[in-house]
Amino acid sequence: MGAAPPSPLRYRPHHFLCSLGFQGKGYSGAFTENMAGIVMGRLRTPSGKAEVIEVTDATDDICAPCPRRRGTSCDSQPKIDALDSAHARALGLVPGQRLTWGEAQDRIRAHVPPGSLSTLCAGCEWEAYGMCEAALSRLHAQG
Ligand code: SF4
Repeated sequence: MGAAPPSPLRYRPHHFLCSLGFQGKGYSGAFTENMAGIVMGRLRTPSGKAEVIEVTDATDDICAPCPRRRGTSCDSQPKIDALDSAHARALGLVPGQRLTWGEAQDRIRAHVPPGSLSTLCAGCEWEAYGMCEAALSRLHAQG
């Protein structure tokens, strides 16, 4: 198991919603273990809302062990670019900005209505499983 990423976490724009929907599935064992360490081990903890995340426009702390990562790029870069720009627009995120996980969830609640991921996440292979949309509905139900 690799070392835990330092604080602040570094996230590309579409990984805020991916972290909301994460259910322990990923692209490889190492990828899933790393993402679980961040999402379950830091964000979904009693103090997780205070976790600070810095927005980046390149590979981030979720991408680090991904088998599809190619240096600071991705072997599906056009798809990733489209997801990042759509999510950055929806959540009002710019590179270098820092926000807490709690603030990120507030932005999702304010700007991403239930039922919108089929459009917002168009092209993502995980979208059809429905777990991200279910998590989005739970977030809205929490008020
Ligand atoms: S559908 Fe894909 S891009 Fe959208 S939140 Fe889920 S994993 Fe992330």
